[in-house]
Amino acid sequence: MTFFKFIHSYLLALFVFAFSFGTAQAAVILVYHHVSSETPASTSLSAEQFKKHLTYLRDNGFTVMALNDLIDSLKAGKTIVDKAVVITFDDGYTDIFEQAHPMLKLFDYPYTLFINPGKVAKNKSGYLTWAQLKAMADDGVLIANHGLHHDSLIKTPEGMSQEQWAAQKIAELQQSEQILADQLGQSWKYFALPYGEYTADIQQKLQDLNYVVFTQQSGAVGLDTDLTAIPRFPASQPYDKIKPLATKLKSLPFDVAASSQRSNTIVDANTPPEQLDKHIKIKVKDFYASQLNCFVSGQGRVDVNWAADKSSFDLQIKAPLDIGRVRANCTAPSIANPGRYYWYSRPWFVKTDDGSWYKD
Ligand SMILES: [Zn+2]
Repeated sequence: MTFFKFIHSYLLALFVFAFSFGTAQAAVILVYHHVSSETPASTSLSAEQFKKHLTYLRDNGFTVMALNDLIDSLKAGKTIVDKAVVITFDDGYTDIFEQAHPMLKLFDYPYTLFINPGKVAKNKSGYLTWAQLKAMADDGVLIANHGLHHDSLIKTPEGMSQEQWAAQKIAELQQSEQILADQLGQSWKYFALPYGEYTADIQQKLQDLNYVVFTQQSGAVGLDTDLTAIPRFPASQPYDKIKPLATKLKSLPFDVAASSQRSNTIVDANTPPEQLDKHIKIKVKDFYASQLNCFVSGQGRVDVNWAADKSSFDLQIKAPLDIGRVRANCTAPSIANPGRYYWYSRPWFVKTDDGSWYKD
C-alpha cells in the first residue's frame, strides 16, 4: 500500500466512523401532567421549575420540535436533528392553560396535549374545557388522544376477557378520535396509553388501525423505535431536577430488535423469574457490551448475560417482580459521544397476589 493509498483509506475509515457514530441522532419526548404547586407532587412540578426546563433547553443546543414533525421523520426513516426534544402533557389540566401555555408561547416552543374527551364532556373542575382547548388549538397546540375515559387497556374487569376489554377500549379510542376531529379539527391518530399500560397484542391492533402510540417508560427515540410503544421520560417530581433531566435529554436510542419491542408485559404475582420475558435483542454499536447497566424497579442493579455473539442479552432477574408497574432500565455510555448514554426501558405489569389488578 502506498502512503497516499494508506492515508486515503485511513481518512475513509475515519469518515465512515464519524458518519455512523459521531453524528448522534436522537429525540427525547418529555411527559408532564400538572404545572402547579398545588396538585399531587408525583404528577406535578412548579411553574418556576418548568421555566427552568425551558431555559435549559434554549441555552444548551436542544431543538424543541413539534410531535408531528418528529413522527413524520420517523415514519419516513428520515434523519432526525440531534438533540431534538418534544414536550407533551397528559390528561388536560387547567394549569397547563394557565401556567404552561403562556410560557411555552414566550419561548415559541410547540407542544402536544393528550386529552380524554369523555372527561372534557363532564366539565369537571380542574380539567380544560372545549373553549380553552379550542383557544390552545388556535395557538398551534397539537391536541391528541389519551383515550375516551382514561381507562387502562389491560386492567380487564371481572367477567370479561382481555380481548373483549381491549376491543371495547379501542372502539372508544376511535370514538374519541372522532370527537377531537369534530371539536378541534385535529385527528393525528396519536395515542398516549393511559398509565402507559399495553400488551404486544394491543400494539398490533393499534398498528393495524394506524395509530402511533406513546408509553410512560423511559428511553430515547430513534429510527428503530417501534411506533406502537414510543418511550417518554417523565419530567415531573421527583424527576424534575435539571441535572438528572439533562442526562435524559442527551440520551441516545439503543438499536433494539423489533421483536424485542413487543414483549410479554402482563405478569402474575410471584411468577418465577425464569418465566419472565427478559431477553433483549440489541445491536452493540458505539458502546461496550461490558458497560451495559440494567436496573429493575424494586431490585436495583441486575446482571446481564450476553449471548456469545453479543447479539442479545438476558436480564439476570433473581426474584419475582414487585406488584404494579415495573421496569427494567438499561443504559450504556456512548463511545463517540462522551457524557451521553444509550437508554432503553422494558415494562412489566404485575398483578396482585389474588390475581386482581393493582390500583392506579
Ligand atoms: Zn393520563
